Amino acid sequence: MAKISILSGKGGTGKTFVATNLVRVLPNVTYIDCDIEEPNGRIFLNPIITDINDVYTKVPLIDDNRCERCGICSKACRFGALINLGREILILDHLCHSCEACYEMCPMNAITMANRKIGEISIGVSRGIDFIEGRLNPGKPSGVPVIKQINILIKSIDIAIVDSPPGTSCSVVNTIEDSDLCILVTEPTPFGLHDLKLAVELVKEMDIPMAVIINKSGSDNQIIYNYCMKNDIKVLMEIPYDKKIAELYSRGTLIAEVDLTYEKMFVDLAEKILELIENEAAGNSEW
Ligand code: SF4
Ligand code: SF4
Repeated sequence: MAKISILSGKGGTGKTFVATNLVRVLPNVTYIDCDIEEPNGRIFLNPIITDINDVYTKVPLIDDNRCERCGICSKACRFGALINLGREILILDHLCHSCEACYEMCPMNAITMANRKIGEISIGVSRGIDFIEGRLNPGKPSGVPVIKQINILIKSIDIAIVDSPPGTSCSVVNTIEDSDLCILVTEPTPFGLHDLKLAVELVKEMDIPMAVIINKSGSDNQIIYNYCMKNDIKVLMEIPYDKKIAELYSRGTLIAEVDLTYEKMFVDLAEKILELIENEAAGNSEW
């Protein structure tokens, strides 16, 4: 099994562009969309969905006959999901993180933890590419349970290309755990560099090998190269600032499918990635 996670410091930097074009040129891969709050890989891969599995989490349920309105549960909740109104305890499901502290603390055993659906995982296939997408229902505080369920599926996959959520949140940490390689997509601007630094710190902390791709590459690339050189991080590819990419992307078309130059660029990228992973597995790491 090889798990390759595509990250970016913030949304809109190009990680879905990289992930979807990469799966198009790699044989026997599974595309996995863990950008659960806004999964959009399916726009480009247009999969046939064969299976949808609901994801549940636990929220408290209070038995009014047992509850003495002591308020211990609402004090125990760090997330403000329980409010003691005196005559009843109000439960704000959307703030609950399922930590079960209220359940543990209730002296009257008045609380049980009940299942609530928070999202779903769609499974399908897109022209020979296996497809998995996690989706979090709007307003839910944490998508970690969806990602944890996807991580169980990944264990039986040959090559997984994982489209991570943006940023460095808990969802990202859970998405990239056990990755063989993290690819950080960035733009050559001071803001891009700032977000890249945050992502690099996280990946370093988790002790995962990493490499960088520069998107909208141009005359300012040197700021990224300088940083990568200083931190011993490989730059795998530069994607030029090209109007054609934006036009095709807005139409949901994969450029590696319709443009030979870009197809070759992504084939080269795929070869480099596989080589890096093989070297790492053989203990000949170049990182
Ligand atoms: S801790 Fe138990 S008894 Fe006290 S208010 Fe909460 S549910 Fe009711
Ligand atoms: S399970 Fe945790 S987060 Fe949810 S209401 Fe209880 S204490 Fe708060």
